[in-house]
Amino acid sequence: MDDSHQPLFISALQHYAYCPRQFALIHLEQAWSDNFFTAHGNLLHERVDSCEPEQRGNIRFERSVAVKSSRLGISGKLDLLEVEGKPPLNYFPVEYKRGKPKVENWDKIQLCAQALCLEEMRNITINEGALWYWKPRKRVPVMFDDALRNETLLTIQGAQALLDSGKTSAPTDNSKRCKACSLLDLCEPESFRHDHSRAYSRELFSS
Ligand code: SF4
Repeated sequence: MDDSHQPLFISALQHYAYCPRQFALIHLEQAWSDNFFTAHGNLLHERVDSCEPEQRGNIRFERSVAVKSSRLGISGKLDLLEVEGKPPLNYFPVEYKRGKPKVENWDKIQLCAQALCLEEMRNITINEGALWYWKPRKRVPVMFDDALRNETLLTIQGAQALLDSGKTSAPTDNSKRCKACSLLDLCEPESFRHDHSRAYSRELFSS
């Protein structure tokens, strides 16, 4: 186990990828606020979690699979693992998401981290998985190529470094993200920016 860092939940990676301050507020300061979006996402996962494993044809469907990487210091739970064929088996991870497919890689990073754990746990290679989106009821394939693997590793390193530092990040410059953020009321990014620019002016004119 990589015990040089604090343990990191895979589900936290999407928070860091979205906004490091959001990640810090939740995982350092334990601040949390369920808005409509997150509450609905929790309900969706509760439904997925309640299902039993099943076999359909030559595919076994394992649900709520615990995953962990000692090498990377991450752990979590995968919504669905499809295991197909006879040895060598084909492993296909699937994660359920409430919203629509995104331009950004936030959801893909989470899925890729789960695949990295499975690879380490079962000594296999996983080339592909999928994200299933509730809103369009659509399954989107995700290739675990080098670019996504590298982005996932960088996200893990960044999140671990932030946890280790114990310091909450400044707000993101992306105000569109703030509008959709479940922590907007707790975070108050505009107050922070206002205070920060006042402190900067004070420093500027006092020198
Ligand atoms: S409100 Fe904006 S700055 Fe604050 S946590 Fe959310 S996205 Fe980040």
